[in-house]
Amino acid sequence: MPELPEVETVRRGLNRVTPGAKILGGDLLLDRTIAHPAPGEFIAALTGLTLVTWQRRGKYLLAELQSPATAASGLGKAQLTQAPPSTSYWVVHLRMTGQLLWVDQAEPLAKHTRVRLFFPENRELRFVDTRTFGQMWWVPPDRNLADIIPTLGKLGPEPFSEAFSEDYLADRLQASRRPIKTALLDQTLVAGVGNIYADEALFLSRIRPTTRCDRLSLPQITALRQAVIDVLEKSIGVGGTTFSDFRDVQGLNGNYGGQAWVYGREGEPCLVCGTALDRMRLAGRSSHFCPTCQT
Ligand SMILES: [Zn+2]
Repeated sequence: MPELPEVETVRRGLNRVTPGAKILGGDLLLDRTIAHPAPGEFIAALTGLTLVTWQRRGKYLLAELQSPATAASGLGKAQLTQAPPSTSYWVVHLRMTGQLLWVDQAEPLAKHTRVRLFFPENRELRFVDTRTFGQMWWVPPDRNLADIIPTLGKLGPEPFSEAFSEDYLADRLQASRRPIKTALLDQTLVAGVGNIYADEALFLSRIRPTTRCDRLSLPQITALRQAVIDVLEKSIGVGGTTFSDFRDVQGLNGNYGGQAWVYGREGEPCLVCGTALDRMRLAGRSSHFCPTCQT
């Protein structure tokens, strides 16, 4: 499942190819990919808009779109001349298997292609999604992102932001009796961390996934916060992971997989102490850890 580093890798890849490109049209192949507006309105809503830039919030990708002022509807002529170009957003969540691929229109369609958007010079942005959990929204200029996508409005701080401070994390964790692994997966605590990086960060900070949040010491919380930041930064630096079939917008695979400490290494020796790594189910997810290093 794409986590923050993979989504950030996709964002950077898209920003190398799409800024300034005008959406000429498209084709919707699976209605349920569109969460807002009605599927039948989606392609028409985006057609004619220019892609300004891609942003990321948690695991959401947000494309800022601009329409020519003259394309605004429902406004009088006097207002039109003064109105700035209106900004709307195309928001994409890749969920488990979603991929955005920047391809030539002549490229044969993959079986699980769900949405196609056409750009000048026969270029195309394709959304391919095997498991079909991926979603996208179009948020018109007069609407708030959080109104249309409530979970986006409830996201916790970005791990690289000042808001993800030691004080913030200590306050939140000391008020919770949940296992720390469960808390790390809660997108309202910190945005973008998923199963892979939660396991890796807990190993690096030597904390057992089952440890109750309110029993963590301040030094442990400090170490955990830094480990979350470090493990995400490192993975962004190498272009995402190879734990899944993740591909960047050019269809290339990242290479973080060779450097995993615990994730996916059940039964293999710990790279620090040699103990066989263990795995347990916690809140419905697999947790990988070293029974010796993590206490
Ligand atoms: Zn160990």
